[in-house]
Amino acid sequence: MNYDGKHRAHQSMDGAVPRRAFLVGGILAAGAAFGVQGMTGQPPQRTVRPPGARAEEEGSGDRRPRTSRDARRASATVPLIYRTEQWGAEAPDRDASVRRRPPKYIIVHHTATDNVDDYSLSRAQRLARAIQNVHKEQGWGDTGQHLTISRGGHILEGRTGSIAAVERGEMVVGTHVRGANDVAVGIECEGTYNTVLPPRRLRESLVEVCVWLCEQYDLNPHEAIMPHRKFNDTDCCGDKFAPTLPDLRDDVAGMLPSKLR
Ligand SMILES: [Zn+2]
Repeated sequence: MNYDGKHRAHQSMDGAVPRRAFLVGGILAAGAAFGVQGMTGQPPQRTVRPPGARAEEEGSGDRRPRTSRDARRASATVPLIYRTEQWGAEAPDRDASVRRRPPKYIIVHHTATDNVDDYSLSRAQRLARAIQNVHKEQGWGDTGQHLTISRGGHILEGRTGSIAAVERGEMVVGTHVRGANDVAVGIECEGTYNTVLPPRRLRESLVEVCVWLCEQYDLNPHEAIMPHRKFNDTDCCGDKFAPTLPDLRDDVAGMLPSKLR
């Protein structure tokens, strides 16, 4: 894979076009190409999610794991995640490889984009499409990371097939961390967190996602959750945010069955 590290990816996302063009012109252009109908093909689901609300409380049981081989896994609470077909993703340029085992790490990234005040779902969907476009242009075939969390706390599938793989206890191999893509799930948090922390809604969704991933994969959050900077020469996930990951691990551990804490 023509992959050269997320650090460059961040630079490219900002450097390929002026940041404002990426966030406004680029996104609008991408959205126009898909059209509204192409975004989902079904009525939008909830656009506002009460803090702490979970998919099973919202009639979204169709996204619960179907596997019967692991009752505990099937009982895991699944966050509300918008799959690729629900945000108008393009088809991947090629099929991603699938690792038939769980990953070792959950890597937290920031997108190094503007800290926008638009917390809407439509904004999150535009962001997901823009990221996929940029990553395809990088030659990565599809979105690099597995999950994206917007500033508004909306959670979207990244690389096609990521959620289905998690539900099977497997992992689609992404493109988000040089040297560790085959052992790490990647979560991109929208924004730049060198001097500020993510919004509360984003962080709450991040906790939910990490709990879900730790349950599905039998991971200990204290060992699994890492900032991108632990692996590559990058400031990701931000000078302000990265030092707070011990708190994130604690919060996730507090919501897990005792054997995973
Ligand atoms: Zn990163």
